[in-house]
Parts: sequence; C-alpha cells; structure tokens
Amino acid sequence: MLCASVVGARADTVALTPSFTSEAIGRHLRVLEDSGGRMTLADILAVPANQRWEDRHSDNLNFGYSRAAFWLHGELLNQSEQLDWLLGMRYPLLDYLDIYIVWPDGRVQHHASGDRRPFGTRSIDDRNFYFQFKLKPGEHVQLYVRLQGQGSLQAPLEVSTPSAYHLQSHLEQLLLGAYSGALLAMLVYNLLLAISLRERTYSYYVGYIAVFGMTQFTLSGMAFEVLWPNSPNWGNHAAPVFMGLAGWLLVLFSRQFLNLAAHMPRADRAAKALQWLFLATAPQSFFLPYAIPIKIVTLATIVTPVLLLLITVGLLRQGLRQARYFLAAFSVLLLGVLLTALHMFGVVQGSFLAEYGMQIGSMLEFTLLSFALAHRLKLAREENERLQRAHAAELESRVQVRTQELDKAMTALSQVNERLQTLTEQDTLTGLKNRMFLSERLPEIWRQAQRWHTPLSVLMIDVDHFKQVNDQHGHLAGDEALKLVAGLIGHAVQRPGDHAVRYGGEEFLVLLPQTHAVGAVHIAESIRLSVQALSFKWGDHPIPLTVSIGLASVVPTTDLPPQALLNAADQMLYQAKQQGRNRCAFNPELLATLPRKSVTPASTGAAASQPVKPAPQPNPASSG
Ligand code: GH3
Ligand code: MG
Ligand code: MG
Repeated sequence: MLCASVVGARADTVALTPSFTSEAIGRHLRVLEDSGGRMTLADILAVPANQRWEDRHSDNLNFGYSRAAFWLHGELLNQSEQLDWLLGMRYPLLDYLDIYIVWPDGRVQHHASGDRRPFGTRSIDDRNFYFQFKLKPGEHVQLYVRLQGQGSLQAPLEVSTPSAYHLQSHLEQLLLGAYSGALLAMLVYNLLLAISLRERTYSYYVGYIAVFGMTQFTLSGMAFEVLWPNSPNWGNHAAPVFMGLAGWLLVLFSRQFLNLAAHMPRADRAAKALQWLFLATAPQSFFLPYAIPIKIVTLATIVTPVLLLLITVGLLRQGLRQARYFLAAFSVLLLGVLLTALHMFGVVQGSFLAEYGMQIGSMLEFTLLSFALAHRLKLAREENERLQRAHAAELESRVQVRTQELDKAMTALSQVNERLQTLTEQDTLTGLKNRMFLSERLPEIWRQAQRWHTPLSVLMIDVDHFKQVNDQHGHLAGDEALKLVAGLIGHAVQRPGDHAVRYGGEEFLVLLPQTHAVGAVHIAESIRLSVQALSFKWGDHPIPLTVSIGLASVVPTTDLPPQALLNAADQMLYQAKQQGRNRCAFNPELLATLPRKSVTPASTGAAASQPVKPAPQPNPASSG
C-alpha cells in the first residue's frame, strides 16, 4: 500500500518493478462511461484529461448490467529488465474487450477479444482473455481498455509476467479438471443407477447433473474454447439455455423426489410455476436481448434453492425423513449460488469463495443428493421388508383360520358320517342292529373266525304267539313288547364283538364270535329266562311274553357259507317252536349234515375233519 501511495503521486501509473509478478491494476485505472457506446480510441484520446474520467479505487472493476461501453485508462512503466508481459482478466463472459497500448511515439497496439468474437482471434488460447505484449526496460506506455456487453460487465484486469501467468493458469486448470472429473463421475454413476433402477426420479437427477455441468462448462468459458470456438453467437445463448434447463430439471427432480404434490400441494404449485418459468426462459435468449433472460434465470436460480430450502424445512417438520439430506444439499447449493450471483451482479467483489462458490456448493450438493437418493432406496427397502413381514404374518393367520375351519368341517362331517352309518345299520324301533348291518358284517366276522379257527355261535330268537299280542292289545302294545324284549337281548349281549340284530318282525338274531356252543347255550338261556320273568302290562292287562331260541355253533370252514349257520339256527328255532315254545333248541350234529361247497382237501378246516353224520334225532340243549 505504501508503494501504491507512492505511485499514486504519479497518478494512474502502474510501475512494473523487478519484483513484479502478477497484480490487479483496477485501482490505478480511470473510468469513462460511453453511454452511446460509439466512441473510438481517437475520440477517447481527444477527451481532455481530468474531464469525464473518474476513479473507482477498486481492483475488481464491476459495472453490473449496462448498455453503455466503458473505457479504462492507465499507464504502464517498465522499471525492470523483463521484456514480455501479459495483460488480461479471468472473466470469460465479456462480449467485447478491446485493449489498446499507445506508445509515446504514437504507435498503437490493439488487441480485440471478447466472447462475441470467434475464439481463433485471441492471441493466446485461453478461456480467459489474455494478451501478450513487449515492453522494453524503462518504456512508459498509455493503456486504454474498452468493455462492452449485454452480460455482467466485469473487468478484473491484471498484469502478469509470463511465468506468473502460467502458474496461475495451471492451478486453475487443475481445479476445473478436478471439478469436471468429479461431476463426470457423479453423472456416470447416477446414469448407471438410473438405467438399472429405471426410476424416473433418477433420470431427472442425471439430466440435472448433465445440464448443470454444461452450465458450468459454459460459464467458465471452457465450452467456448473446446466445444464451439467458431459459434460465438450460440455461445452467448448457451448460458441462459443451460441454466434454464438445469433449473427446470432441478425443480422437477425435487418435486418428484419429495412427492411434493402429496405432502404440500400449495408449495408444489409454486414449485411448478418456477419450473415452467425456467423452461420458458431457456429459448428466450434467442429473441430477447441477452440481458433479460440471463437476469430472469439468475434470479430464478437464487429463488429456487430458497424455495426448496423452505419446502424441505416444512417437510422435515411433517416428519419426512428423506428431506434431511435435501435440506443439507440445498443449503450448500444456496450458499454457492448466492455467492456466484452476488458476484455476477457486482455486489460481492472477487475472492476464491465467490469465484468457486458455485463449484464447491454444487459438488457438495450432488454428493448429498446422491446420498439422499441412496437413503430413499434404503427407506423403500425397509418399507418393503416390513410389508413382506406383515403379509407373511397375515397369510399365516389366515391359513391357520382356514385350517381350523377345515378341521371343524371335517370333524362335523365325520360325525355326521358316523351318525349316518349307525342310522343305516340301526333298527329304529328297538335300537338294535338291523339286517343291513348283518349282511355287511357277517362275511367279515365269518372270515375272521375262519382264519383264527375260532367258533362262531348264532341265536335265532322269536317271540311266541306274538300275533295274539297285536290282535288282543293292538299294534302299539306289540311295539312296546318288542322294545322290551330287544332291551333284554341287548342287555344279555355285552361282550365287545357280540352283536344283537333285529332280524325280522318279532325275530332277533344274536351273533357270538369266539363263543363255543356251551357259552352260547348259557346266553340263550339267560335271555329266555329274563323274557319269561318280564311282567309286561298294557293298561291293566298283564301280557305274558316268552321267546323260543334256535342255536347253531360252528368253527367256520372255507367250504361252508355263512348262510348255512343262519339256516341251521333257523331250523333249530323251528324245532323249539315245534317242541312247545319258550325253549332253546340245539343240535351239535346239525351243521355236519348241511350241504357244503366242493373244496380241495388241503383247504378244509377243522369242522370239515369231523365225521359227517346225519342227526336223526333232535338233541335240545335245554328246554323250558
Ligand atoms: P309263533 O309263536 O308261532 O311265532 O306265533 P306268532 O304269532 O309269533 O307267529 P307269526 O310269526 O305268524 O306272527 C308274527 C306276528 O308279529 C305278525 C305281525 O303281526 C307281528 N309283527 C311283526 N312285526 C311287528 C312289529 O314291528 N310290531 C308289531 N306290533 N307287531 C309285529
Ligand atoms: Mg315269527
Ligand atoms: Mg313269533
């Protein structure tokens, strides 16, 4: 500063001392505003000194948006041995930049640059505007610089030695390269995710990164240098177009990601309006002066993170967890955007943060948004797992209920079935088994006795003079009598495997497996005696009841049909009736006389080995 004040004594002179490397020269320059923008160098040289010129006292000359052209004037004095010098500025968006160096002998060196002129016209291939000139030691020259443009007019002019310039430009390239690389990595990574996940939110995000990257590439002047060096006209439209598209995609992505329409319908409408404003601005730069769309889009770019920030805060209050990373992302983006925008409008003067704020902010933003997307996937997976668990539990309980219902139905069905079975095999009047039962079970019982060589006995029981009971006392009395007799028979037949069957009207049959004739006689007698002892009364009339019983017993053989046994018992019953009723009749020889099937001797049973003798005389086992 001491040095500057000393130099300030010789107004507007920049001293290039031997220790000089690189320095901003803004504070040494006087400014003249040419509101018509038509003045030439000759006009400027004709302007009397100290008239219309004014001092700005700033190294980063910034005139914001203006239709006027600005002339800067200063003097350069080479006090060193250095011959080669560079003059220029690191602001690549200026439309027209004209640098004139005027030697005392009237010689003028003119350098025309600016991004409205093809890239090839530059003396140095640099995205920024730099111009190389020679100054002999001790030479003292006048410097005139003309600025004009529709964008933000900035002139951070500096003078550099070649080595200082190269060092600076290397560092810058390194930073930009790192930024571009990181952006590209983000882009590719998210693109692959978008392809594999096929989610619309991801594609908006990928589009946003791509267009945002193009915006940065354009604003840094790199796109002009690398992509469209011969299209300065398009180059000047590119920034608002990309900024508009980036804003549009960002809002679209945010609305989709936060499901804003569902959570905050009113905020969603505002965001939607912003979204269409961005989209509408993009093509405007082709019809309107550059300054209008770039101002709209810059303002919208400042408003967007503010709005999104407010929305995310609101959503966080609603308890939406995914809004957390969004909040962080937009906070840093907002900081970056604010710094850059303020820088563009000339409010904040250049500093590293103001210059690279957008890059730093956006990189953090992209990282946080990628994280937000990954976090959202995690939330979705958790939700999915929870649903699966709930679904499985519900399914299981449903299956359980169904199984229980089925079990119940099966039990009921088998009960009904059982009941049906007993009903079809039961006699309704007496409750004993009926003939259906006999015809179904007798063959089985017969075969079992055959296999085990066990005796099978049968009692054929008939109520004596039963017709008289009906005739004298009526059918109801007869039925009652039958029930009583049946009850007694059922009572006498207690062993499992024994069966009491109502065989006909007042005829009963008792099946006694594994029972010898002696045991059968015993049971028959007990039945006969219990019926005889019965004192049955119908009204006041006592009705005496007796039964006659025919008995047959055999160890079944294969040549003997089961019907033979029944026939033998029937024959014995007939005999008991013949002999005077109320008695049991049995003839052990009888079965031997019955006709048999023809069988091979090997398969004959025990009964067949007995000598077949005719039974000439009935041999009752007992009699009443
Ligand atoms: P016997 O001593 O010779 O057997 O004489 P009985 O009268 O018993 O002879 P019969 O076999 O001719 O008569 C049977 C009678 O039993 C005929 C019928 O009226 C009667 N009866 C048959 N079934 C039923 C029935 O379910 N209820 C009633 N009340 N009577 C029946
Ligand atoms: Mg009868
Ligand atoms: Mg009878």
